[in-house]
Amino acid sequence: MEIYLVGGAVRDTLLGRPVHERDYVVTGATADELLAQGYRPVGKDFPVFLHPQTHAEYALARRERKTAPGYHGFVTDFSPDITLEEDLLRRDLTLNAIAQRADGSLVDPYGGQADIAARTLRHVSPAFSEDPVRVLRVARFAARFAPLGFTVHESTLTLMQRMVTDGEVAALVPERVWQETVRALRESQPDVFFEVLRACGALAVIFPEVDRLFGIPQSPQWHPEIDTGLHVMMCLRRAAALDAPDTVRFAVLAHDLGKGATPQQQWPKHLMHESNGVPLVQALCSRLKVPTAFRELALMTCKQHLNVHRAQELRPTTLLELLENCDALRRPERFSELLLACQCDAQGRGGREHWPYPSREYLEAARAAAAAVQLSEAQIATLAGPQIAKLLRERRIETLRELKR
Ligand code: ATP
Ligand code: MG
Repeated sequence: MEIYLVGGAVRDTLLGRPVHERDYVVTGATADELLAQGYRPVGKDFPVFLHPQTHAEYALARRERKTAPGYHGFVTDFSPDITLEEDLLRRDLTLNAIAQRADGSLVDPYGGQADIAARTLRHVSPAFSEDPVRVLRVARFAARFAPLGFTVHESTLTLMQRMVTDGEVAALVPERVWQETVRALRESQPDVFFEVLRACGALAVIFPEVDRLFGIPQSPQWHPEIDTGLHVMMCLRRAAALDAPDTVRFAVLAHDLGKGATPQQQWPKHLMHESNGVPLVQALCSRLKVPTAFRELALMTCKQHLNVHRAQELRPTTLLELLENCDALRRPERFSELLLACQCDAQGRGGREHWPYPSREYLEAARAAAAAVQLSEAQIATLAGPQIAKLLRERRIETLRELKR
């Protein structure tokens, strides 16, 4: 039996990045032999085991053969005669297909080290096209390693394009698309994920609402970058630079979908793009089964981003309505996330990355001031319910008027 460290741990060590999990591949062994040594089985579809002490994952070397389209069209063979080279051959990218022996020496049959040196993401073999999840994975690795200078190799991009035209990408189940998307949003350059998907044509298939924004102009007065798709990419870059949480990044992705619905004769204006965006955000979220927290913040950002931008111009009553519509007093954390998403929108514009965004502080202060308004015990005891609510609102509006001064 031979044991090799494989995948991300080897890659990240070569890149000088921290290793967060260690996966091993075992050749020349059967499941029974590993069980006899105390490994615990965990694989549902494949024989994968946890080491009795370290709990690292050990997988039997395997060979895959595609027999039919779709997810289940794979026949997997994991007999003890499968070689390490065969196992590495079914992996997605050359930099993920390097193995390391216990003595530290590397086994690199597909040129992973050379591709790391050349900062290239390249598929291992033509079998790459058998699994459409790999299109998303490549885009995600491109988003992760863009700061190190990595780009997708031309031949891999061509293969990805063919997987789109062959309809493989359209067959991806929503759960997998969302799973890879939310991971990509957390990467250091999430915009690169969408740019790579766009470059291979997959964006039009899985995110048509986002794809459509490219080529739609906005007024240069507000948007020196002009193109709406480019603006959204710049907002995502800003969100990553501000270390925004994934919910905020998704809200940023979706905030301007309504601009895709503006009648062309109105360009570069986008009247009502906030309300026009709502059904589009809803459709995207239902299609991908986006979790509620992401959906709520995305819808709120879509509806309210212009109100947030012009917060300082709002009259006290309108300001309170904004807070109420955002449920800001009961959900202060989510309200803060809305403000951060709006900041990304304001700063995701050509040359405006470092412009101040006073709306954020102003609205945080407004929320705190409104929340601090309390009625006395006596007022509460003597007034009926609706009167209490009315008085509370009046006091809050008064407080917001003070704040404006
Ligand atoms: P991460 O740092 O995100 O964990 P990773 O490279 O370890 O990166 P995993 O998803 O943990 O990625 O998968 C481990 C290894 O399994 C990868 O390095 C790759 O070799 C292989 N792999 C995973 N998914 C696929 C796939 N869909 N197609 C081909 N190979 C895959
Ligand atoms: Mg991993």
